[in-house]
Amino acid sequence: MSFTVLTAEFSHESNTFSRCPADYAAFTDRGINLGEDAIAARGKANTPIAGFLDIGRPAGWRVIHAISAAAQPSGPVTRDAFDRIAGVIVETAKAHADKIDGVLLGLHGAMVTEFCEDGEGELLERVRAVLGPDVPIGITLDPHANVTRKMTELANIVVSYKTYPHVDVRETGKLAAGIMQRTLKGDIRPVTLRAGRPMLEEVNGGRTDIGPMVERIAKAKAYEKEAGVFAVSVNGGFGNADIHEAGPTVLVTCEGQREKHQAFAEALVDDMWQRRFDMVTPFLSVENAVAEAKSYVASSGPLIIADYADNPGGGGYGDATGLLKGMIGADLKDACFGPMVDPEVAAELRKGKPGSTVSVRLGGKVDAELGGGPLELTGTLVRVSDGDYVGDGPMMGGLQASWGPCAVLRVGDIEILVTTIRAQMTDLQQFRAFGIDPAAKRVVGLKSMQHFRAAFEPIAGKVIVCDSGALCTPDLSKLPYRRVRRPIFPLDK
Ligand SMILES: [Zn+2]
Repeated sequence: MSFTVLTAEFSHESNTFSRCPADYAAFTDRGINLGEDAIAARGKANTPIAGFLDIGRPAGWRVIHAISAAAQPSGPVTRDAFDRIAGVIVETAKAHADKIDGVLLGLHGAMVTEFCEDGEGELLERVRAVLGPDVPIGITLDPHANVTRKMTELANIVVSYKTYPHVDVRETGKLAAGIMQRTLKGDIRPVTLRAGRPMLEEVNGGRTDIGPMVERIAKAKAYEKEAGVFAVSVNGGFGNADIHEAGPTVLVTCEGQREKHQAFAEALVDDMWQRRFDMVTPFLSVENAVAEAKSYVASSGPLIIADYADNPGGGGYGDATGLLKGMIGADLKDACFGPMVDPEVAAELRKGKPGSTVSVRLGGKVDAELGGGPLELTGTLVRVSDGDYVGDGPMMGGLQASWGPCAVLRVGDIEILVTTIRAQMTDLQQFRAFGIDPAAKRVVGLKSMQHFRAAFEPIAGKVIVCDSGALCTPDLSKLPYRRVRRPIFPLDK
């Protein structure tokens, strides 16, 4: 017997403190693909849809893919963007309602819209309204999800990635689709249980390469082998979303023995609470990071300085200048920095002639109060480009993306990648396609919290992490929360 499965990908991580809304144009910047075009663009990469197809194709599913849409993390999704993208999914469900046996959605799990705190819950509600309560729905999530009760009530199967950097997105899609196949065959009837704690996020931002999350993921995987357990998800949460249900959760997708599985989830999430002070990442000030860079000897690869606080992947504006200013002030030799997101300067430079001397007022424009205002710089224009590249690393391999119009500007001995589109640095091609080889540099400054590690740690001599004071500061107590439930850690002691 073969089944008809509706699939879609719709993801956004909404930093409610950001001034930049995720409008429809923000989704087209990163890419909106419909139906078979989406499968052609994303069906073989590290994506949920690739994982769904890994199971669905050999199982003989008729896959109806509605849409794949994602925007860079930023402020809440506008009503227009949400209605248009969710609308494609809902209309596709309507058009095939009598044939659809199951639904698989690749979501993020921290989407806030202009009109509701729980974008994923809203989407699931709209899909359920068309297909009714009995069609099984499975979703994959990013572990930086704020998983609401509504989401676990409306989806039968919920599975999060188990790695950060997220290198197992496809594997996660596969796991969810495998559970879906067993459900469609009538072998199992899964539900998803949820446990949370009153805290904004896991103390190490959910990183899984070192620290206590390593143990938790091992426990989760071991528990997945228990009878009646299909998936265990350990979500570090997303503390930059000021919503009632923000925070870490543990989910168990299972059947039978609810009390036992709930107790397991409670114990695992309790470990996040108990070890809420066990921070493993040291955060350096700009001054200390630059001092280390000044004397660094690149015998086994460059020093990588991650500008954690201005991570566009967490909703940072990508134009904070604090770290770059420090690097230029110290006159660092043989260095590069990227991205510096500044559409105005990128457009201006794009008109210039490589080799010419240019003066620009760079970065710090979205909110000069956070992470440093504009820098007045004079340098040499090295290269201009349309910004397109194809990733080749563990996260982005095979995926096409773009910085939009961009340029490389050399100031002193620092090559600066100036871009139009906001994105974090996760792939070497994001530098290399524009003539900058980070592996050959002595010092590399980049905007990312953790995802850069997948591609950059193998070429790095050393990695340090800097809190430049921008929007995504690790010190959440600096942010003006209004809507999270109280008391909550670390806001209330
Ligand atoms: Zn994430």
